[in-house]
Amino acid sequence: MAELRLYSFQNTPANVLVKLKEHLANQLHTLFAPISVEAAPLPIPAKAYESIRDQYRAAPFLAALGAQVPSGVHALALVNLDLFVPQLNFIFGVAQSNGHALVALPRLSPVFYGLAENPALYLPRVNKEALHELGHVLGLDHCTNYCVMRFSNTLADTDEKPDAYCAPCLGRLS
Ligand SMILES: [Zn+2]
Ligand SMILES: [Zn+2]
Repeated sequence: MAELRLYSFQNTPANVLVKLKEHLANQLHTLFAPISVEAAPLPIPAKAYESIRDQYRAAPFLAALGAQVPSGVHALALVNLDLFVPQLNFIFGVAQSNGHALVALPRLSPVFYGLAENPALYLPRVNKEALHELGHVLGLDHCTNYCVMRFSNTLADTDEKPDAYCAPCLGRLS
């Protein structure tokens, strides 16, 4: 079974990473082992910032993970910055098939939309986006069932989808 290491880039609240680790250890123990947390945050890649958009490109963060992690080990990192990839205005997360994954935190928080902090909304969103991106790491495509692999175009899509893979997706994973 493949090893999974959880990282954060600078300025990510440590408790979010710890809570995600507890959650994934429960949900993914049949897919990844061991699952560990790297406590020291990684530096923000110097060339990631795009001043015209006031956003950060995702690719340099994935490259930084690739440089950290031995081959055969997968990594997922939390990034508390607004990320984008070419052709998309923003992303909640991104993954490389059989590689590494990122979850971008700001747009998952009610604070981004001028609302009060709400961990009961925020933490499940982080969990779902992490599970979704790790599904891509393990080779899953988007799914139209009631499934965490549904594509999230908006935060409402994320809130509606379950925090679990559907039976056909689970079948593909095992
Ligand atoms: Zn996806
Ligand atoms: Zn599915």
